[in-house]
Amino acid sequence: MDGERPSIERWMKQGALPVVIAGPCAAESEAQVHEAAARLAAAGPVRYLRAGIWKARTRPNNFEGIGTPALAWLRDAGKAYGMETATEVAHGWHVEAALEHGIDLLWIGARTTASPFSVQEVANALRGTTVTVLIKNPTSPDVDLWVGGIERLRAAGVTRLGTVHRGFSMGGRTVYRNVPMWELAIELRRRLPELPMICDPSHIAGRRDLIEHVCQRAMDLGMDGLMIEAHPTPDQAWSDAEQQVTPERAAQIVTSLRIPRPATDDPMANRSLRQLRDTIDSIDCELLDALESRMRVVEQIGEWKRANNVNSLQLARWNALLHDRVSQGIARGLDDGYVKAIYEVIHREALRRQSQILDGVELPEETTAVEP
Ligand code: PEP
Ligand code: MN
Repeated sequence: MDGERPSIERWMKQGALPVVIAGPCAAESEAQVHEAAARLAAAGPVRYLRAGIWKARTRPNNFEGIGTPALAWLRDAGKAYGMETATEVAHGWHVEAALEHGIDLLWIGARTTASPFSVQEVANALRGTTVTVLIKNPTSPDVDLWVGGIERLRAAGVTRLGTVHRGFSMGGRTVYRNVPMWELAIELRRRLPELPMICDPSHIAGRRDLIEHVCQRAMDLGMDGLMIEAHPTPDQAWSDAEQQVTPERAAQIVTSLRIPRPATDDPMANRSLRQLRDTIDSIDCELLDALESRMRVVEQIGEWKRANNVNSLQLARWNALLHDRVSQGIARGLDDGYVKAIYEVIHREALRRQSQILDGVELPEETTAVEP
């Protein structure tokens, strides 16, 4: 939604509104697909009707999709209710079958993006076609793997290309089914600003009540669209029941979102924003100065530890420091998880510097370096 992106890949944009892809996790029966389509078309601004035809399941013996016969259900329902159609492909023959049925948009699922062999197989089948393709982030928080998939698709001549942010699997340790890690979606957009990005709040949230918040967050970050799982009877869905909403609820979520506009070039409109950004810039300078001063003291402590032959890690001190900083943060209205995460990075780097001083060895830093 910003002005920097070349027009060739602006196929996504519908004025200021997000492109909406909605429909059931999986096609279950012809009647279910038609009912979802009818109710979505009646309820709201849905451009693409989605339905999973082949379902890559994490564990076996779950519903794995109806397969090829359901493609005709999707095509016909889209036609009947005036929506384009979208489905997931994971093999070359999926692409061929979907194209034979005139499906308008194909997406590559998170588990498939994680496998370069599979993405290459799909890319090969897409060569010479003009279909719209979206590639979801891989299940693991690996931006390079995501970029690699995009490169394979581009090399196969796919031009109507976009991405889907669906969160990252972290072994079920948070309220989200897939942790959003918005910073990774932002990093992808920083590297490839011309590609539209759709958010999939359903697979991020994993539960109905969080979907609206995730959608709003995606809009606040200027994402181009939303892919929402909507089922006529969500509780009875054969897959992903907890995260599916009714078609009416999906439409209600989309229409109630606040859609911020991108910053304009109008100097008057931007003045207060510029002032605020100047303030942020100078606060960041202070932060970096403080981090530099802190590091100098860390190094002095490292020298003392070497002279006295003491471990770099002092667990009791670290524990006390962390508790103290977290409660100081809370007293300042900062989130405890946020302060803890910052101090974990600060402490990790302090230990790394001290190991250099104690042993003369230098292990590489663990956080991702900035890529051009
Ligand atoms: C889906 O969209 O139904 C799906 C399986 O998503 P993901 O690949 O993101 O898990
Ligand atoms: Mn699903």
